[in-house]
Amino acid sequence: MPFSLIPDRVMDCYGDLTPAYLQEKGVTLLLSDLDFTLAAKSTRRPDQPLRDWIAELKEAGIDFMIVSNNRSGKRVTEFCADLGVGYQGHAGKPSTRGLEAAMAKAGRDRAHTAMLGDKLLTDMLAANRAGVLALMVEPVGGAVTLWQKVLHALQAPFKAVCRRRMGKEA
Ligand SMILES: [Mg+2]
Repeated sequence: MPFSLIPDRVMDCYGDLTPAYLQEKGVTLLLSDLDFTLAAKSTRRPDQPLRDWIAELKEAGIDFMIVSNNRSGKRVTEFCADLGVGYQGHAGKPSTRGLEAAMAKAGRDRAHTAMLGDKLLTDMLAANRAGVLALMVEPVGGAVTLWQKVLHALQAPFKAVCRRRMGKEA
């Protein structure tokens, strides 16, 4: 379903995504959004739980790269360098170009790639258009501003469809 907004899986946080699940799905490249997916936007350095999670993925043979629409490159490049992971900036999600560039850099195809993110209209739409596994998390820190609350409410029905489908799979 290339234009679908429905994610393949919804989780509370990135830590709920395990190497075992990705291996079961045949994923060897995990692409991820940064802001509100892995850390709050104000966070300048990756914390220890995030470092540990990335280390677990690497141990399981899963490559990891951040694909961000962020234009103020310094914070993101420093964050990624500190974390020891690759970075594809100016991704233009929901365009697929950032995801495709990241897959080309990593030498993987869509069948072995997943995209993790917190927003339907950018991260999940880009994932579905690119034909990769679409994995969604609730935003780090929750919805705080009015706009975030509105967005959260608009996303809820799509996440509910996904959770129902996940329930049927289980
Ligand atoms: Mg985000």
